[in-house]
Amino acid sequence: MNNRQLFQQHVAQTSPAPIGLEMVRAEGIYQYDVNGKAYADLISGFSVCNIGHSNPKVVAAVQEQAAAYMHLIVYGEFIQTPQVTYAKLLSDLLPASLNSVYFTNSGAEATEGAMKLAKRVNGRSRILAFNNAYHGSTQGALSVMGSEYWRNAYRPLLPEVYHMPYNSQEALDQIDGSFACVIAETVQAESGINRPSAAWIQALRSKCTQTGTLLILDEIQAGFGRTGSLWAFEQYDIVPDILLLGKALGGGMPLGAFIADKALMDQFTLNPVLGHITTFGGHPVSCAAGKAALEVLTAGGYIAAVAEKEELLKKISHPAIRQLRTAGLWAAIRFDSFEINHKVIQRCIANGLITDWFLFAADCLRVAPPLITTTEQLKEIVRILVQSIQEALD
Ligand code: PLP
Repeated sequence: MNNRQLFQQHVAQTSPAPIGLEMVRAEGIYQYDVNGKAYADLISGFSVCNIGHSNPKVVAAVQEQAAAYMHLIVYGEFIQTPQVTYAKLLSDLLPASLNSVYFTNSGAEATEGAMKLAKRVNGRSRILAFNNAYHGSTQGALSVMGSEYWRNAYRPLLPEVYHMPYNSQEALDQIDGSFACVIAETVQAESGINRPSAAWIQALRSKCTQTGTLLILDEIQAGFGRTGSLWAFEQYDIVPDILLLGKALGGGMPLGAFIADKALMDQFTLNPVLGHITTFGGHPVSCAAGKAALEVLTAGGYIAAVAEKEELLKKISHPAIRQLRTAGLWAAIRFDSFEINHKVIQRCIANGLITDWFLFAADCLRVAPPLITTTEQLKEIVRILVQSIQEALD
């Protein structure tokens, strides 16, 4: 059997039609396949690789930490320097109330931990979530996923979860003192890049404060500079009670986190003790990689350059494009149908661009290159993208 057949036979499959490229190397904004063909990455691992692939500083941090120690003991017992220094760096880059970092293995686990924490803090159980939201695939996270199509096959799920339209007055009207938390993406990713209005998300913040409902903002995809500021919530002048991070948090290594005020987070330490535990959460190698990646991101001036690059994305133009939504170096290009989008994606891949569609917006093409993509590279990417659209329609 060749590798493709072995992949299909022995690696558990998640779809009948995986992208199925076989890469041997990735560096900067490019991935290289078994035949040596280079592909510019417009997915970036769904915002994992915000500083591109194989940054030498991240690789060195991984090697150094792996040589010092890898696993010592479950999370939360020993003082592990990579966790301590990364938690301190994150706290320094966040508002004062987001000062206690609970490191997990993944984004979904961050969602799980945050919902548990909210229930502990105010003793309530109802959760408000949004249509077309994605917060992970485990059962708690699936319960707040904003699509009945994906939820329904796995019922029963968490009770007392209510879904409302994102960015709607209707949602604000629902929130009262019976809710433990509201969970929302600061910018919705998988609905095809949807920004809330500033007035709406500010009203959401106020309503949560008035009713003692914790506001959980998920920046697992939107964080780490993707939208043009380190944290997307900064653009709305609000602060969540709990922030969810993942993806780029580990600099390419598996890592998630939920971050809150220490006074809230300390709820996990008593009655019962060990309120949330994990063996590998905050793995020292992942923390070392993530910290190195965040230092590269903040020192490199990449975030400040996002706005100018967003302007280039906004100029993408072709008669087949029905709508173009952007949030920083992140765009959704909507076509008339999934069929057209699929053809464009196939042409993009043939022309050396890795892209795909969005989970809840199959007619939208994803443009999420690493933030280190230069203006010249981006211009060339846009040129190939427009050429691919034309080829798909010819
Ligand atoms: N939240 C958002 C916004 C995501 O995009 C994702 C993953 O795509 C998750 C949560 C779940 O993260 P993970 O796949 O690491 O569990």
